[in-house]
Amino acid sequence: MRKLLVLCAVVGVLVCNANAQQQSLDAMIERDIASWLTTYKNLHTAPELSHREEKTSAFVAGELRKLGFTVTERIGKFQNAQWTGYGVIGLLKNGPGPTIWVRTELDALPVEEKTGLPYSSQVKMKNDAGLEVNVMHACGHDIHMTSFLGTAKMLTELKSQWSGTLVLVGQPSEETGDGAAAMLRDNLYANFPKPDFAIALHDKPELETGKVGYTPGYAMASATSIDIKIRGIGGHGSAPETTKDPIVVAAQVVMALQTIISRENSPLDPAVVTVGSIHGGTRYNIIPDEVNLQLTVRAYKENVRKRVLASIERIVKGVAATAGIPEDRAPTVKVSEGTGATYNNPQLIDRLAVAFRKALGEDNVVEMPPMMASEDFGQFGLDQKIPTTIFWLGASDPAKVKQSRESGVALPGLHSALFAPVPEPTLRTGVKAMTSAVLELMKK
Ligand SMILES: [Zn+2]
Ligand SMILES: [Zn+2]
Repeated sequence: MRKLLVLCAVVGVLVCNANAQQQSLDAMIERDIASWLTTYKNLHTAPELSHREEKTSAFVAGELRKLGFTVTERIGKFQNAQWTGYGVIGLLKNGPGPTIWVRTELDALPVEEKTGLPYSSQVKMKNDAGLEVNVMHACGHDIHMTSFLGTAKMLTELKSQWSGTLVLVGQPSEETGDGAAAMLRDNLYANFPKPDFAIALHDKPELETGKVGYTPGYAMASATSIDIKIRGIGGHGSAPETTKDPIVVAAQVVMALQTIISRENSPLDPAVVTVGSIHGGTRYNIIPDEVNLQLTVRAYKENVRKRVLASIERIVKGVAATAGIPEDRAPTVKVSEGTGATYNNPQLIDRLAVAFRKALGEDNVVEMPPMMASEDFGQFGLDQKIPTTIFWLGASDPAKVKQSRESGVALPGLHSALFAPVPEPTLRTGVKAMTSAVLELMKK
């Protein structure tokens, strides 16, 4: 009986401490939310394209330095040596314990904003091809950066509650899928403490603000871009018998590719083959010499991705050969460097889900289905050797989400010119969730 009383007292103190921690984190968030809103709006009005995040990375680096982090800038080596790697690492050592990486993206998209918000982006800048384009934070990376900096501030103030090494990572060029690879290529894990765990968040317009979502296991697919050139023998549109028509071959290829997923792939292994672009010919009566196709392939498992790529090559070459296109005019299939799948380590996500429920309440933490979109964050896990996880941050007004679910009309999604997260509650939840996640992994 006495033992039980002592136990109750101990449990009472623990619960009491947890509540006090929560209250002080809430109070700290309330104290700072106005300044985070300003940061968010400033970032939103000044977006920069992938491979060009010069001012954004300098801002993030400066803020981390002010908080006492040891900061390194310009990390990242792209395959195109003309591009600067604008990666940022902020390091804070606070005694023994695990090394936790928290990542934010830095880049924005070539989208002309149409939200009509007072802080809409008016920015135009030159893209990789030298063309001037409108730029917008249409994926919410401004929400991510602000939550990341807010989390950095909370964790520096709560240093007595955790022990270990915190590594805050500003990653460039997520939208082009080559930023994480560029950072890794720059000897990332030799130059900085390697993570025991790496975490990130991404906003989600389909989820109510105030909530977070998680997906154990495969959450997002790998993405591979493929360029196909179908070469024929051109000629007069009135005399097809003197030609090898690449337009007809391209049409057959597009249809034949549909059988890869429906006939060759197991229905239990999700994958997608999409032909997103097809260009050939100049006018009515000319059979052209070539047709160019651009494809995206999505898959979770690497062996599935490889098999799909091999099938594409086999089908393209086979259809062209069947059409009588000579060997020296055989199609070319070029596969570009892609983005790996995002695999959320189930044990890690289980642990974080418990921390989220404690911080945000049972009803505000939901499991969500995986998707075939892509993200290069998983690459920091080196083929699942390092446990990584990304979680979803609700970003839309709950009333609008309800209306959208009832009507079946989707809210403006990520990459839409109309994407407009509700900043204040989203930032509050982003900082609270990420801070709680790190405290869970580094608690004393
Ligand atoms: Zn995006
Ligand atoms: Zn994004």
